[in-house]
Amino acid sequence: MAKEHTGLSPLGTVEGDTIVAISTSMAQAGIGIVRLSGPQAFSLADQIFHTPSGRPYSDQDQRKMRYGHIMDGAQELDEVLCVYMKAPHTYTVEDVVEIDCHGGSVSVRKVLALLLKKGARLADPGEFTKRAFLNGRLDLAQAEAVEDIITAKTNLAQQNALGQLRGGLSLPLQAIKDQLLSLLAQVEYSINFMEDAQEELPRTPLIDQADQVIEQITGLLEGAETGRLLREGIRTVIVGRPNVGKSSLLNALLREERAIVTDIPGTTRDAIEESYQVKGLPLRLVDTAGIRKTADPVESLGVGRSMALLKEADLVLLLIDGTQPLLSEDLDLLAQTKDQVRILLLNKADQGLQEKTREAVRLADSSSPGSPMLALSAKTGQGLSDLEKTIHTLFFGAEEHHQSESLLSNLRQIDLLEKAQQALEEARKALRAGVSLDALDVDLQFAYQKLAEITGEAIEEDVLNKIFQNFCVGK
Ligand code: GDP
Repeated sequence: MAKEHTGLSPLGTVEGDTIVAISTSMAQAGIGIVRLSGPQAFSLADQIFHTPSGRPYSDQDQRKMRYGHIMDGAQELDEVLCVYMKAPHTYTVEDVVEIDCHGGSVSVRKVLALLLKKGARLADPGEFTKRAFLNGRLDLAQAEAVEDIITAKTNLAQQNALGQLRGGLSLPLQAIKDQLLSLLAQVEYSINFMEDAQEELPRTPLIDQADQVIEQITGLLEGAETGRLLREGIRTVIVGRPNVGKSSLLNALLREERAIVTDIPGTTRDAIEESYQVKGLPLRLVDTAGIRKTADPVESLGVGRSMALLKEADLVLLLIDGTQPLLSEDLDLLAQTKDQVRILLLNKADQGLQEKTREAVRLADSSSPGSPMLALSAKTGQGLSDLEKTIHTLFFGAEEHHQSESLLSNLRQIDLLEKAQQALEEARKALRAGVSLDALDVDLQFAYQKLAEITGEAIEEDVLNKIFQNFCVGK
């Protein structure tokens, strides 16, 4: 369809230059990899990679790791291992060379500079993966999954992206596209060959087919919210009146898995936000110190922000001091958060909870269906694992997270799918209303086009460039 836009040669391979990049992080490490891809990959590497036997690698067996030295004329730049991989069975479908240099930034930079001097071009971000896409090894949804694997912060997000790379989204999408294409074919046949309106195809089967396609798209979109949570994290806010133990709970949760606590870049608010893994799920814990009534104008500014954070939260952990009677501040918070996904936590269980408080909380919980309520001690850690289990169940169901289809998690893909869904709903409405097939054919075609953009069969070059710009360098 849009193959004209993609710069493919008639053979389906990308023509032109040989690209090079450092594909590993420049941190101090055992090794660092410089990667080359393109028609000159072998000849460029032969010029600088010297094996002990003196025979160039390209005259020897492919795909074997070989020991040697990177030489700039008589000067040795590094001692390396090197592998040549012949097209087309490579990541990019082109000739690829990977040079394992010593780690750190100096060796890899020297080797990179030498290859640039010899005529390779510095790869753009994501250009290796872009070539894999242009050469037909990955569709666009799979290419995007590659970047999601690299940037995943939790097991589940990484597993989901890996599923997408295997075709966990592309396969169901293909099935949807096939069905839509069959519907389109019938409509267009009718438009082109059935001139007499009386002769037109019966509408009911067409409406049924539109129903089926819409239903499947809706199914994919329903998984998208969970996919977003996997990718971005569950924004979690801990609230409660002063001294109920909010900071203690935050610390207890963070202490549990301190090793994987990371800062989330780009957090725009003043509130401290830390990411934490619960059974592979990312929790973004937002510490809102002051969600309470106050007369102090400066403090109330902070409270206003906190309230906004509270409203945006995917999950509210409402903390109540279970050793004390319920106060009006507790009741206010119970009322304010009743429409949110929340867990009610009776804290300080190590000191013995008051049965009356538990009953009062149950009574005051006007959410529907009632919010889960747990006894907890932020001090001793009692109840923390129940809390984690409850969070997992609320967002992903009671079972461990097993599924064959991948969850949609990419905003571009979600947007296209929503557009396809809207157009199909329009077409279905028109089918039911008896509008002429000519008129609704446009909507069907538009929907098909949007689905094809997800996997990249039909996509403009500038859109493509924008997608790959966000990739890591060297991938
Ligand atoms: P915040 O104002 O809601 O952040 O409350 P803090 O986390 O600062 O806790 C207030 C006080 O309650 C501190 O003295 C904590 O040590 C104590 N505390 C918090 N959680 C528990 C708990 O589970 N058990 C007991 N016994 N004390 C707790």
